[in-house]
Parts: sequence; structure tokens; C-alpha cells
Amino acid sequence: MSRIYKMRYLLLRRFTQIGLLFLYFSANAYGWKILTGTLSSSTLFQTVPLADPFAILQMLSAGAVMGMDVFIGAAIIILFYGIIGGRAFCSWVCPVNMVTDLANWLRRKLLLDKAERKVWVSRNARYWVLVLSLIVSAITGLAAFELVSPITIFNRGVIFGMGMTGGVLFAIFLFDLFGVKNGWCGHICPLGGVYSLIGRFSLIRVRHNEPNCTLCMKCKEVCPESEVLFMIGKKSTTVNMGECVNCARCIEVCDDDALGFSIRDFATSKAKGENR
Ligand code: SF4
Ligand code: SF4
Repeated sequence: MSRIYKMRYLLLRRFTQIGLLFLYFSANAYGWKILTGTLSSSTLFQTVPLADPFAILQMLSAGAVMGMDVFIGAAIIILFYGIIGGRAFCSWVCPVNMVTDLANWLRRKLLLDKAERKVWVSRNARYWVLVLSLIVSAITGLAAFELVSPITIFNRGVIFGMGMTGGVLFAIFLFDLFGVKNGWCGHICPLGGVYSLIGRFSLIRVRHNEPNCTLCMKCKEVCPESEVLFMIGKKSTTVNMGECVNCARCIEVCDDDALGFSIRDFATSKAKGENR
């Protein structure tokens, strides 16, 4: 199997992430009107509104009044990820994923995963940060997470130039490298939490084919949300947990053809009790 084929999803993800950033940048730099705005709120071809549902929730909590186009934009995003993509925003769109993937790759190369764990953060912390962001937004009248969001910082940095705020991205890189494995995206980021909830019942899922599995555990090593692969070593089933980011790293590292994308079959999943 060629190296390029083994990295096909990774290359596609980087193409999408960098391509989107370039479109935002080119709207500002060259006046192209393909994708204008930022990841929080944008317009496709000057017609289709797109909006980050979590940013809208924060603004609603803060008491902001918004136009109908913003709600339509949020609804389009919710429908897309809720029905089709699951939490794919995190691995196919969000630019911070490139930073955290790099940190995780370095962690594996430097064997830091094998070192004694000094810092522990619950994977549920992201849901608490989510709630806290909404409470702080309501109290301050400002979209709280948006003010410090590394996603916004990265996105705006590419469009308008990265200043000192870029240090936030470096801090996340160091935290993921030397602190907690997949610390930011897998434990703290509330936007990742929001997409885990939105994508809970989406159609595109990773499927595990147990007869092919040799229990090498390479998939668990690279998976940024390794708990979602709870079925490895058990029966054939589908990764149904909303935390899976559909990054396909597990599929790419599997040499035994035991993992692949599939369309969720609700009837069979329910009968087998897979909808956890
Ligand atoms: S968890 Fe947050 S920072 Fe990480 S990829 Fe998802 S939205 Fe981006
Ligand atoms: S199960 Fe596979 S696709 Fe889902 S997050 Fe883990 S490595 Fe990515």
C-alpha cells in the first residue's frame, strides 16, 4: 500500500482546513467572494449564511439581538453535522486541529505517552467549560468563549495577521505535548463538546470488522478520542459515540482492513445495543 494512500484522509483533511483558511484570507486580501467572514459567521458565495451554533448560543446568552440570517446559518451547520458529518468539524475544518495533531504526533515520536502521567483532566471538562461559557456570557453580556477562543484567534490571525495572541496556540501546543494527551481538543474545548452533542446521531461512522482485527491496537494509539474505540477486541460494531471526530486516523493506520467508514444503520445498531 503506497504511503500516499495510507495518508489519504490526512491529506484531504489538511487540504480542506488550509483551503478554507485560504478562502477566508483571499476574501480580505483579494476581494474574492467565495467565503467571507470567519468561522464564527460567514457567507458562502454571498448568499448562503453559515454560523457557529456555539457562538450564537453565547451571543443569545449575552442578550444580543441577531438577524434571521444568523439563525438560518446556525441551522444549516447543525443540520449538516447532525445528519451527516458528526463531529467532523474538529478534524476537517477547525485550524487548531493542525496544532494539536502536530503535538500528538510529536508526543508519540518522543514516547511521551509512555511517561508517567502528571496532569489529569476529565474528558467531561469540556461540557463544564461549555456551560460555564454560557453563564459568563449571560453575566458579562459578552460572548465569553469567543473572546479567548483559539479557533477564532487562528482564523483571524490568518486573515488579518497573527499578533501576540498567537501565544495561545503555542500554549495549547505545549499543553498537548507535555501535559495531557489530546488535552485541549479531547478534554477542554467547549466547541468540540458542542459538536460531540450535535453529531451524536449522524450517519457517517467508523465501522469495526472484528474478524479482520489482529488486536495490534495501532488504532487506539493514534485515536484522539481513544475511548470511542471501546469495542476493539470485542464484537464487530460501529463507533457511535459523538466524540469521534471522523478523522480516519484509525482507518489509515490499520494494516488489517478492520476499520472503514460506513453509513450508520440505526435499526441494526439498536438491535445490537450499539447506540451508546
Ligand atoms: S475540539 Fe475545539 S479546538 Fe479542537 S478541533 Fe474541535 S473545535 Fe477545534
Ligand atoms: S475512532 Fe477513528 S475516526 Fe474516530 S476519532 Fe478515533 S481515530 Fe478518529
